[in-house]
Amino acid sequence: MKKIEDIVSLCKRRGFVFPGSDIFGGMAGTWDFGPLGVILKRNIMNEWWKYFVEERDDIYGVDAAILMNPRTWVASGHTETFADPLVECKECKSRFRADKIAEGITESVTSEEFLATHTKCPVCGKENWGPIRKFNMMFLTHVGAVLPDDDSKLAESHVAYLRPETAQGIFTNYKNVLDTFYPDLPFGLAQQGKAFRNEISPRDFILRDRECSQMEVEYFVRPSEWEKQFETIRLLQHDFLENRMGLNPNEIHEYEVPEEDRAHYSKCTVDFMFDYPNGEEELMGLAYRTDFDLMNIQRESGKSMEYRDKVTGECFVPHIIEPSIGVERLFLAVFSTAYTEDELNGEKRVVLKLPENLAPYKYCVSPLLKNKPELMSKAKEVYALLRKKYKNVTWDDSGNIGKRYRKQDEIGTPRCVVIDFDTLEDNTVTIRDRDTAEQIRKPIEEL
Ligand SMILES: [Zn+2]
Repeated sequence: MKKIEDIVSLCKRRGFVFPGSDIFGGMAGTWDFGPLGVILKRNIMNEWWKYFVEERDDIYGVDAAILMNPRTWVASGHTETFADPLVECKECKSRFRADKIAEGITESVTSEEFLATHTKCPVCGKENWGPIRKFNMMFLTHVGAVLPDDDSKLAESHVAYLRPETAQGIFTNYKNVLDTFYPDLPFGLAQQGKAFRNEISPRDFILRDRECSQMEVEYFVRPSEWEKQFETIRLLQHDFLENRMGLNPNEIHEYEVPEEDRAHYSKCTVDFMFDYPNGEEELMGLAYRTDFDLMNIQRESGKSMEYRDKVTGECFVPHIIEPSIGVERLFLAVFSTAYTEDELNGEKRVVLKLPENLAPYKYCVSPLLKNKPELMSKAKEVYALLRKKYKNVTWDDSGNIGKRYRKQDEIGTPRCVVIDFDTLEDNTVTIRDRDTAEQIRKPIEEL
């Protein structure tokens, strides 16, 4: 059984993920990616970009600002409805998301419904609750030269939010793209970027953090075609998750979200759940957002969001299908899928069986012995050669060869190349496979 504690510990030990602001005692709901984590994270993001943007003709990329005109969030409904049910324990003053500590209630729970569940405080064990209050999860900030003691200047006009989702940065650029690229329907806009949510209780490692990276496509379709396009995109997600990210299809479960739990904008949502080591959790969402977003923008901005068909001249506001995935959630799914404990020659080992396209390093090059100058210089030569060819190659001459293998296994390097005395004679090297630990000899030119 894979345990989340072992994965968190490997992430820290090998420099994938550290707690945010660790040196100052941390910052709840934030995580930092270390040298190997950032490579893995970028490999995941680049693979997604390749799959959904570069390899297609119908999806364009955008990269919008994080700070947006606050009217964006009025139009989208976030100012009004992007809120969680907050409940406070009157005994110990701890605050919780009501729907996370009580069974069988939803985000729209009322105070009466919550009290009827007779939930005890997870901190003090008492049952003495205040009323349910709506807590807006957007991070509020002020823009421009505003001083904290200058109350009169803290006017609405200075208020801004860190974006709670990347999607609005796409919708607000829909018209710009329409007017500059004249795309035919259906077409999509893709974006990767940070989004911020002031979660009441961040938890579960990088699964529920206050700052996360999202990868989203907003796919604009004819209203009559939404079901067909929804199905096409649903299948694409599977192909991407299984064949590009190496996830096991048996660990991905689709769940059609019932109406009362759906976000306010969606007519149909399928959550892709994943079997994480600590239980089933949401990995990504696929939502049919209808014309909700473009109609809101049209109303709030007073500008037409209509698309004009080039052949028939027909004008209408397109509908939207949105596949949305959190990078950190995908990172953990990829990492925990790859995390394997097995036995090698009677010894336990940890090996990260990452797909080749995601592994931080493709090769590790090392000399059999560090104190032999002729081996060192030959190994450096091979290292330079492979670096030039593959870029993501690492060097290791620390400890003994067994220790090096174990380290490379733990960080997911598919192959270790070792330069020994035979190499000096016949220009062949030992290549050791990460998953099978088998070793073969090959001429250097065949690497
Ligand atoms: Zn309490």
